[in-house]
Order: sequence, then C-alpha cells, then structure tokens
Amino acid sequence: MNFLPFTRPAIDEDTIADVANVLRSGWLTSGPKVQAFEAALSDYCGGRPVRVFNSGTATLEVALRLAKVGAGDTVITTPLTWVATANVILEVGATPLLVDIDPVTRNIDLEQIEAAISPSTKAVIPIDLAGLPVDRDRLYAIADKHRLRVIEDAAQAFGASWQGRRIGSSFGNNKDFVSFSFHANKNLTTSEGGALVLPADIDTGLCERLRLQGVRRFANGGMDVDVLGGKFNMTDIAATIGLGQMKHIDAFTARRRELARRYFERIDQTLGLELPLADFSNSNWHMFQVLLPAGTDRGSFIAAMKDRGIGIGVHYPALHLFSLYRALGFKAGDFPHAERVGAATVTLPLFPAMQDSDIDRVCAALAESLLEIA
Ligand SMILES: *Cc1c(COP(=O)(O)O)cnc(C)c1O
Repeated sequence: MNFLPFTRPAIDEDTIADVANVLRSGWLTSGPKVQAFEAALSDYCGGRPVRVFNSGTATLEVALRLAKVGAGDTVITTPLTWVATANVILEVGATPLLVDIDPVTRNIDLEQIEAAISPSTKAVIPIDLAGLPVDRDRLYAIADKHRLRVIEDAAQAFGASWQGRRIGSSFGNNKDFVSFSFHANKNLTTSEGGALVLPADIDTGLCERLRLQGVRRFANGGMDVDVLGGKFNMTDIAATIGLGQMKHIDAFTARRRELARRYFERIDQTLGLELPLADFSNSNWHMFQVLLPAGTDRGSFIAAMKDRGIGIGVHYPALHLFSLYRALGFKAGDFPHAERVGAATVTLPLFPAMQDSDIDRVCAALAESLLEIA
C-alpha cells in the first residue's frame, strides 16, 4: 500500500525542463526569471507591485521594516499560526500582542482586536489559517478606525479569495501589505520562497535594498549602502518553478475544493471530530484540519494512521506556549480557544494530485484508528 503524505507538491515535466535550462544557462541567482515571476504575480494579484524573496518569513520581516515597525511598537497577531508570524515581530525589535482566535474560523478574533489596541500598537498581522481568509471587510474597518498598518500573512492563502476578489488585491486603502510563502508545502511552491504585494505608492527601490544588503547601484558602476538590508533574494531556479506553478494554481485550488467537499461527505459524523468551516468560495483549502474528540491522545492517533499508510500533520500548537514565548510572559490559559485547537488539531492529507478514492481511504482509516486507540 502506498504511503499517502499529508501534502505533496505537483511539479510538471515542463517545469522540470525549464529548471534544467536555467541550470544550463549560467545565470542561477536573481535575474530575468525573477522579474518574469514578479510580473506574473502582480497580474494575478490585481496589479500592485510585487517583489519576491527567498522565504515567506523574509517577506514578512521586510514588510514590517517598510511599515517602520520597530523597537517600542507592538504588533497584533494570533497565537494559532506558524511561529514565523510572531518571530518576525521579535526580529524587528517590536513586541507581539496576541489575540485569541474565533473557534469557528480558527482565525484571529476580530471582535477582540479593538480591546487589545494600545497607543504603541502600530500594525496587525492577520493570518488566513488553512487558506480560509480573515473577513477583510471587518479587518480593514478596524484598521482604518485605529490607524493600524495591516500586513496580511497570506502565506497559506495564495489562490484564495474574499467575496470574489483574489487575496493579494487591496481590501484596504492601498496601504496594506500582503505576504505569501512558497514553501514546498504551500499551494504554490518555488521549493522555498515568498512574495510581497506592496502598497501602490511604496518606494520599491527601498524594498529591493532591504532584500539585498541595502545596496544601491549606480549606472557608473559605483554603489552605496544607505540602509541595513538582509540577504533575502530569490534565485532564478526558484522563480522558474514558481512560473510553472502559476499555470496550474487555479486548477489546484478547484481540485482542493472538490477534495475538501468529499471529506465533508465521507467523514463519519459519529466519530465526534470537529470539522473546519465549510467554505467553498473563499478558501483555497490549503489544509483540511479536524479537531480530535476531547481526551484522544494525538500521538497515538498519528501512529495509528501511519500504520495504515497515512501521513498526518500538526498545524500548529499555540505558539505562546513555546519556551521562547513563555519567557516573554505568556502562559497557559491566556488564549483558551487557540490552546484547545492547537492541542487537538490534526491535518489530513489534501493535495491536488489526490484521487477521490484516497479521501475514502483516509476516512476509513480515521474510523479504524479512533476505534483502535479508544
Ligand atoms: C509558511 C508560513 C510562513 C513562513 O513562510 P516560509 O516561506 O516558510 O518562511 C509564515 N506564516 C505562515 C502562516 C505560514 O504558513
């Protein structure tokens, strides 16, 4: 029996041939493929400028720097995200201000944001967990009222939309940033990589300098460094993979939605699993996450599924319970919804190349595994 991982990238043969051509070309680092990929992403996301990076994490960090967030500032986000979202806040010297999730969407609870805002609050980083977009209308109403910069951590939401418009479009006043990750597990991959959709009026040159050592080059061959930049540029190899993926992204999303629908039809309701919000218009179904019934040992469940040839992921334990964040003063009990979801969540296999029969196989294994470990 084949092992079914929880996710697997789909790279077509044309893309593999294109990558081989880049390898033969003699130009491996940032070059024409990066520029072509940025143009394709900008078209896809509604026309604002886009710059690509070597990770989604770097992308978020540069967005914070462009928004002039630093020491003395606080930034609101949620504890139920990949830890990168909060790490970048620390990286720029600011303080993460965590707000619990809404247990229905598992995204940041927008109702609780206003109460958390203080005079030092500069920005909010909402994340679209599993590709289900945060309510953009309410988000930007709050952000405008309190003059907060918004950096959308849309790492998981490439190809998703909000009310018929793609994530990456501006849902605010064009001052917002949108960050995507192209890590191998994301819906569109470049192996590792990320992209930043920029406010329409931004200094794109500054964004490029923050991406590469702060270097500014002059036509006469001279150079200057006027800002501290990182080493965050994308290679032409990675950009070529991304260009190949762009051809399929809408088909990927459509297939993910079909597979997610089949989970809703086939998961045995008597097992007591808590299913995700059934959204088939906005979400790109980056992940299909269920909560195990209270009292289920997650480690035993994962082992029982593995025995049946099925890979299970965990995305994510609530980050405020990690040692680094406990040392900042966070503790168990601070964010009860995120803690409950983080402790009970499991990610079932979902990727575009899956067959309908794979879903049925996972559903059968779910029932057997829960019975076996009960
Ligand atoms: C993947 C991810 C990131 C980081 O992206 P990398 O490309 O791995 O650096 C940030 N935030 C969220 C929510 C993610 O899922």
